Amino acid sequence: MNIRDIRAFTVDLSRARKAVKSSLQRKGRQPAGPMDRYPDYRGSRSAAGPSWPSAACIVEADDGSFGLGITQQSGPVLPIINDHFRSLLAGQPVMATEKCYDLMVRASAAYGSQGAAGFAISAVDLALWDLKGKLLGRPVYELLGGPQKKHIDCYATGFDIEWYLELGFKAVKLPMPYGPDDGIDGLNRADEMVAETRATIGDDIELMLDCWMALDVEYAVRLGETLRPYRLKWLEDYLMPHDLGGFAAVRRRLPAQGLATGEHWYLAEPFLYAAEHRLVDIFQPDIKWCGGMSAAVRICHIAEAAGLTAAPHGAMNDPYGQHLVFAMPAARWGERSSGVSPPGVPLAEMVELPGTAVIEDGCLTPSDAPGFGIEVDQAWLDRFAV
Ligand SMILES: [Mg+2]
Repeated sequence: MNIRDIRAFTVDLSRARKAVKSSLQRKGRQPAGPMDRYPDYRGSRSAAGPSWPSAACIVEADDGSFGLGITQQSGPVLPIINDHFRSLLAGQPVMATEKCYDLMVRASAAYGSQGAAGFAISAVDLALWDLKGKLLGRPVYELLGGPQKKHIDCYATGFDIEWYLELGFKAVKLPMPYGPDDGIDGLNRADEMVAETRATIGDDIELMLDCWMALDVEYAVRLGETLRPYRLKWLEDYLMPHDLGGFAAVRRRLPAQGLATGEHWYLAEPFLYAAEHRLVDIFQPDIKWCGGMSAAVRICHIAEAAGLTAAPHGAMNDPYGQHLVFAMPAARWGERSSGVSPPGVPLAEMVELPGTAVIEDGCLTPSDAPGFGIEVDQAWLDRFAV
């Protein structure tokens, strides 16, 4: 069975679920970010970010069956898929996910296989894995050698800490609202925020802090020292993703602090370098950005071989990450970030793709339906095309 066609188009899947405001919007606490040194863009990721909607990618086989991949950054992703990968992969065997991944990585090398091309590779690769599972009649986690665990232990990211405890989460992650431009006041406020959260959750719940590329080496080290009494499981994404020397410096200067990063790294190679140089303890690839399932599995294997762990970024938000984490020994935690519900709203009401498994009492077991278990057809997707 060969690939007959590939097509990508824009979608707004948030319209498929209950409309709610995130904890960040409701509490008026914006996470810090790398643009914060410019006052015009401060405190708003959207002011500096693109307005591109998400992208859906359909890979269709000769017999008319299809797989679905979803990613973000449709602006550059659509032409990469429709004008390049479509003709590149037409006629290739649908089961040949390794070959197709390698073809996309090599063919995009001349304009950069990382970054935007990584999003495009992810969408096609995830659609291929979905199709492969559907054709074989097995869930993707089985094709990967899973299940490896009984269920996935999940954590929630946001500021509705008491609600997350009520939902049964055993770990929570705070977005960091302060950065180097807040100086010592930012450190003091972070200390207050984390102290208050630790007092709320007690000593038996894990606590993490996500700094979304906002810090520099000096501030990250001072922050780590300041927060030492609260025993953070990890400090996350504290530097710009390309500052590999900076990651080495923070590792040296915060020897006991758990460190995590990787949602802005693409393909397996940066993770191999990070494993070799022990830059962090926990890898956080995003399966919809890093190169899809084929890249994410490589990254989890690198972590496993190096004695590290993985906590893939936003992996519980959709079926793709759920299947990855369920199958991979290195993956220890599943993150629910975007779409975690506000107080009083059941998590089931936040499902975007029909067929997506829902976290219950802090744990998740993915759907065992073929592929990723996504129950949509072209007509359903057309309703959310933008
Ligand atoms: Mg993060």
